[in-house]
Amino acid sequence: MGNRILYYSTNRELNTEKVEGFKGEVTFKEALFMGQAPDNGLFMPNCLPELYKEEILSLKGRPYPEVAFEILKKYLKDDISDEKLREICNDAYTFGIPIEKITGEIYLARMDQGPTASFKDFAAQIMSRLMEELKEENQEITVLVATSGDTGSAIGTAYKGLEGIKVYILYPELEVSEGQRKQLNAIGDNTTTIAIDGKFDDCQRLVKLAFGDSELKSLNLTSANSINIGRILPQIVYYFYSYINMVGEVRPVIFSVPSGNFGNSLGCEIARRMGLPVSPLIIATNENDEFPKFLNSGVYEKVEPSRKCLSNAMNVGNPSNLARYFNLYGGIVDKEGGVHREPDVAKMKKNLYSVSISDEETVKTIKEIYEDYNVLLEPHGAVGVAALMNHYKKTDKPAVCFETAHPSKFPEIIEETLKITPESHPSLVDIDKRVIEPEHLPNDYEAFKEYLLS
Ligand SMILES: *Cc1c(COP(=O)(O)O)cnc(C)c1O
Repeated sequence: MGNRILYYSTNRELNTEKVEGFKGEVTFKEALFMGQAPDNGLFMPNCLPELYKEEILSLKGRPYPEVAFEILKKYLKDDISDEKLREICNDAYTFGIPIEKITGEIYLARMDQGPTASFKDFAAQIMSRLMEELKEENQEITVLVATSGDTGSAIGTAYKGLEGIKVYILYPELEVSEGQRKQLNAIGDNTTTIAIDGKFDDCQRLVKLAFGDSELKSLNLTSANSINIGRILPQIVYYFYSYINMVGEVRPVIFSVPSGNFGNSLGCEIARRMGLPVSPLIIATNENDEFPKFLNSGVYEKVEPSRKCLSNAMNVGNPSNLARYFNLYGGIVDKEGGVHREPDVAKMKKNLYSVSISDEETVKTIKEIYEDYNVLLEPHGAVGVAALMNHYKKTDKPAVCFETAHPSKFPEIIEETLKITPESHPSLVDIDKRVIEPEHLPNDYEAFKEYLLS
């Protein structure tokens, strides 16, 4: 059987005036419902199980839900029965990953076929079902999400209709795109969207205040963004899946991942530590260049306020999952971006390559990749492709890039750049008919709290 995997805090070794590290280890279920550790650190598994070469090869050609079961079982076997986990994987993954060849051995994995047309569906669809399964019977829980775009709709859609779970999504009234606003307000059912008269940072502040408010204890508040380990584990799976189906044999491969809060790429880093021969992992950012700068200089400085770029889901100036990267490389960084112990930067540079892509280069890449190879990209995917093809350049190994959103979520940029209209993702067809009016609240905590309690 082996020992049960438990979860520790990335801040556990901190001992400062402000923070006393949380020394305990919790089960997956506890970590899932706590969201983050009591010391504000992020939970990490205390063991990353390894797969033998033969085991990786045996995944070839198998349907996605089966690969998900095989990988997730290694983490969840003591928390949930095999039978139930298999059922959850089958139920969650009813969509695939189309693979296109860009050129030579450079591939594009389209992660945009889920119910809300972004890669976030891969984690959201299974996390919701795990919460439903693991919560106490008759327990009512409340999921709070602040969103600047894609996360809210992926979470709301994944939790739709689940018994005993209410979802509240806060979004900045004036900052989301027209398409994103429609997507958020078409969910309905047990999801309530709240348009806040403020910025994304204000939404996040309201949510954080609610989590810390003891008068809201009775609501059983839970977070569903990528600080939650329940969002990270499912994101390990598609690295194994795309590797074995694209590369086909055990040899080194490059992955290029467009990144904001670094939850997606962290799935790849963990897959590498589980035995996948990734070399290197490319962490591609937009103009929020704090991480590529850090790898070059060894000095970490968050970008504040974050820069507004076309790839808006990646407008993050201080990635929340940086704490997990530092932890894996022996360092400690707190959630404000304060470095308490340097990680092994030389080792990071051996495994990771990171580069910042400007908006100008993003648009140029959409144009060139379409004209040269007839492959359609949107701004997030283009950042990853540009990082590989224009900057890393060494293409002596197979390489896999990720398209993290469906091009039809960004019709304006594509029409302007390519003079074509992308075909709509099925979830976006007829969306106007499903849109309902959201709640409107001022940027004021007392008003938000009163609303939650009413
Ligand atoms: C959230 C998101 C990203 C960034 O992913 P992280 O895990 O935060 O790095 C990239 N592209 C799209 C379309 C997204 O929605």
